[in-house]
Amino acid sequence: MNEDIALIDQFNGFFDGVEKTTYLIEAGRPCQYAVNNNPCTFCKFWDRKSYSDKTLNTEIKNFKNGNIEIISGGSFLDDLQFPKDTRNNIYNLLGKVNFDTVTFESRPEYITKERINELKKELPNKNIEIAIGLETIDDKLKKTINKGFKTKAVFDAIDLLSKENMKSKLYLLYNYKKEIDDKIMKTLKEIAKKQKAINKTITIGFETTYGQNADIKKIVAILKTAKKLNLNIYVALSGEGIAKHPLEKYNKEFTEFNKTQKIAALEGIS
Ligand code: SF4
Repeated sequence: MNEDIALIDQFNGFFDGVEKTTYLIEAGRPCQYAVNNNPCTFCKFWDRKSYSDKTLNTEIKNFKNGNIEIISGGSFLDDLQFPKDTRNNIYNLLGKVNFDTVTFESRPEYITKERINELKKELPNKNIEIAIGLETIDDKLKKTINKGFKTKAVFDAIDLLSKENMKSKLYLLYNYKKEIDDKIMKTLKEIAKKQKAINKTITIGFETTYGQNADIKKIVAILKTAKKLNLNIYVALSGEGIAKHPLEKYNKEFTEFNKTQKIAALEGIS
């Protein structure tokens, strides 16, 4: 069985200086955490439907080389959201193109040895990265946004991924709640500590999509701190088909920053 995977949106970015194509797909089933516990309060993605006739099956054929990211709102590694047949369809499609690294998203509770073994078996000789929505280091704040897990669960998952030679990525929320923004430096410092402890890069996806009034100087200061802490941080620049991105005006500078990871790329706007 090889059913079509509906595509919601597609956009380009960078990962480790190499071009990355992100495919935002419709999982077929909504995020099961949201179904059972209500969604995380900021989340607009947990039951997204595709209104186009584009599919991953057709669009991935145009992929030339670089990195691939498959995002869906929820957990690729959750059997209830992505049954094995659906995961197999996606592995088959990935098997037909030439890429360096593939990124999937998952909540930490689904990052198990069993799923890691499956990924290794189905995508042999590929770099695999798992992205987790940490949002903030602060567990009390995570509770206020209904995240439903603590930082420890995320750091335990990172330990497992690192032991299994897989990469980790953490999404951080910004421009959504002042209290979360206030904790961003602490969040970055704790991630840097964890990175040092496992001696492997932890990539950060800096999600600035939510508030339209982005304080550009603060964002540049945060990125400077992240680079001082030796973190690879990528600024989200797509509204993911929902809204105009608040940093759109500086798209050129942030794209260059994402590509080079050099603060010099932002000098014109700071
Ligand atoms: S943020 Fe992730 S875990 Fe939370 S509701 Fe949205 S898709 Fe589900």
